[in-house]
Amino acid sequence: MESVNPKRILFAGLFHETHTFVANTTELRDFTVLRGEEMLRCAGDSSPMGGALEAAARLGWEVVPTLDMRALPSGTVADDVFESFWSELRRATEPALAPGLDAVFLVLHGAMVTPSFPDVEGELLERLRALPGAAALPVFGVFDLHANFTARMGQHADCLVAYRENPHSDARESTLRAVALLERCLAEGRKPRTFWRHPPIVWPPTGTGTADNPMRALEACARDLESRCPDFCAVNVIAGFAFADIPETGVSFSIVTLGAEDEARAALDELCALAVTLREFGVVCEPLPDVALTNIPADAIGLTVIAEPSDNIGAGAPGDGTGLLRAFVQRRVQNAAVALNDPAAVERLTSMKPGARATLALGGKGSSLDAGPLTLEVELMSLRDGRFELEDKQSHLASAVGSHFDMGPCAVVRHEGVLILLTSHRTPPMDLGQWRSQGIDPEKLSIIGVKAAVAHRRAYEPIASRMAWADTPGPCSSRLRQLPYRNIQRPIFPLDEL
Ligand SMILES: [Zn+2]
Repeated sequence: MESVNPKRILFAGLFHETHTFVANTTELRDFTVLRGEEMLRCAGDSSPMGGALEAAARLGWEVVPTLDMRALPSGTVADDVFESFWSELRRATEPALAPGLDAVFLVLHGAMVTPSFPDVEGELLERLRALPGAAALPVFGVFDLHANFTARMGQHADCLVAYRENPHSDARESTLRAVALLERCLAEGRKPRTFWRHPPIVWPPTGTGTADNPMRALEACARDLESRCPDFCAVNVIAGFAFADIPETGVSFSIVTLGAEDEARAALDELCALAVTLREFGVVCEPLPDVALTNIPADAIGLTVIAEPSDNIGAGAPGDGTGLLRAFVQRRVQNAAVALNDPAAVERLTSMKPGARATLALGGKGSSLDAGPLTLEVELMSLRDGRFELEDKQSHLASAVGSHFDMGPCAVVRHEGVLILLTSHRTPPMDLGQWRSQGIDPEKLSIIGVKAAVAHRRAYEPIASRMAWADTPGPCSSRLRQLPYRNIQRPIFPLDEL
């Protein structure tokens, strides 16, 4: 669709979920960076930016691509990552503002932290707004529901739309909703406003799946408010990200509306009250691995998937925790598999041939909370390249990386009844292509241990007979009281009683 005067929309993306309790710093080299025209390559892929660019083309918008930076969840981001993002974005935005832009569209995560900027997205939006000619510009975008939303984000953006599903099967769909709202804003010439409220609650990621309460009831309430109040453009249920320690960490709600402030405030009160009522449902406690294994019936048929949320790669953990693997080895489980990120172990195996035996100190290097490397005698089964095409293009992983993932060089080793997939890049367990690309058919296994909280469910539930969770030592433990919070606003449930 070509129009005579196409709308000129500037696109930018900054995507990182920051775990401030893990030791490693996330540097520029950890980010995938797309500049200018390079961004257009992802049009139509599974990422939110891909969806936004495809929709822009359909609407006949003139896209001004600037900069897109994404990295997997990991430790605190270095200040210079944000400063270099900002200086490149400013250099691309200022000349675009001079002849006139119609709007800005941003793809954000919403939980990025650097030492100087606990609220990176708020800082970015404030700086963007302060550029000459940007004060009244519509600023729209999409963000992950695991954001720690802030007053500044609401103040400087006109309309940010959150994902509604966890696992995030709707990242692209949410983006299209945000694009449609921007299109309406441009057509009608009316900009919405954002109102926001943060009840004193923080839930671990395990408590934020949208198939269960509290999120299920909160989502239903939000959709009901949208249908009851025609002025509401978006009612966002923001689960928060417990492992990014900033003042605003935790659950919040934002309402983007064309209507009166009173109406939005009343709706926010209703959502906060419901969250307080349901607060205990978001506090999840998993059994110890021994108990989780004992709970599997002796005559169990089919696959049991045991998740280890404390080493949740999708939330920034190292993915090399040995807690669950130790339990598998000690109990001598059969026909089982786990994946461990251990580039050093892969490196040691690269010169060997399948069938060779080696004694390796596996995992346990990434977190001081882990018991440390587990020394096992193993047989090398295979060595392969780790790049694979995602089987599920709508998955949580696709929302972050697009259509392919690279685990780096991989090795599969066996210790008694346990297959261990050793990767060289941390790989969130959200796509079965991870196993199949390495010659392992996950359906044929009896037990798989995965390093995730919720996001693995979409991939594994269709092939699993039962899903279980186990509490092991690690930085993404559901037991939030153990974490050394310093910045979060107190009192907050469950760290304090309400
Ligand atoms: Zn998320």
